[in-house]
Amino acid sequence: MSTPQATLVPHVTTGPAFAVRLRSLTKVYGGGATAVTALDDVRHDFPAGTFTAVMGPSGSGKSTLMHCAAGLEPVTSGSVEIGERDITGWSERRLTLLRRRHIGFVFQNFNLVPALTVADNVALPVRLSGRRPDRARLDDLLARVGLSDRRAHRPAELSGGQQQRVAVARALFTQPEVVFADEPTGALDRASGRDVLALLRDAVDGLGTTVIMVTHDPQAAAWADQVLVLADGRLADRLHGRQVTAETIAARLAALGD
Ligand code: ADP
Ligand code: MG
Repeated sequence: MSTPQATLVPHVTTGPAFAVRLRSLTKVYGGGATAVTALDDVRHDFPAGTFTAVMGPSGSGKSTLMHCAAGLEPVTSGSVEIGERDITGWSERRLTLLRRRHIGFVFQNFNLVPALTVADNVALPVRLSGRRPDRARLDDLLARVGLSDRRAHRPAELSGGQQQRVAVARALFTQPEVVFADEPTGALDRASGRDVLALLRDAVDGLGTTVIMVTHDPQAAAWADQVLVLADGRLADRLHGRQVTAETIAARLAALGD
């Protein structure tokens, strides 16, 4: 299912050392008496070509962190760098171009276009950025996610796990520097979830993609290289290396009362 193919070339390793840098990132929603501080002075550098899981109790700021880091939400103070670009204050138009070219997204509910075939869903971001999708690359990606024989099917004709594999292929099609995944296995059974996690792991190891994944599940997080734990909008804990096991992650979350 994941044989590396010729058209999927790894990122050159001479790029920036960090794919995403969050510098004193603070995000406040609303104002006055109803203001909510969703992120409070979060500082973290995500090394290029690594897999990070972002965890924490509900409402701790995980989705906000992802949205700010991807330029989907403006920050209140601090800054976000993607590659070596400081995107703070960029116009919506410039951010849209950056996202189309350099960022991939995977969502809990797949977000495929129901009327389009599998192949057309995968190629959609490239078409939207005004380029012609590379046919060989499309074939390679469909093979990589194990859906070569489903290319003409519509999303409704696929299982949830298959739909999420289409979403992963779509996210990887532009060879993005960063893939953001918000609960990508949240709607899947465990076996389908493992397939999706293996594909994300494979994108990191085989293609040099940087993956930042929000998850509630310690077993999903254990596929990552490092785990960030948010609590009340602050970076409360960080695990890496041999600490990244489902047992250790679950114990650290339990200590936070999740
Ligand atoms: P998580 O993804 O960890 O569950 P979120 O990032 O969605 O947390 O939310 C963090 C905090 O910010 C919560 O208190 C939430 O209610 C608040 N919040 C999130 N989005 C908005 C919004 N658009 N407007 C107001 N408050 C928001
Ligand atoms: Mg969330």
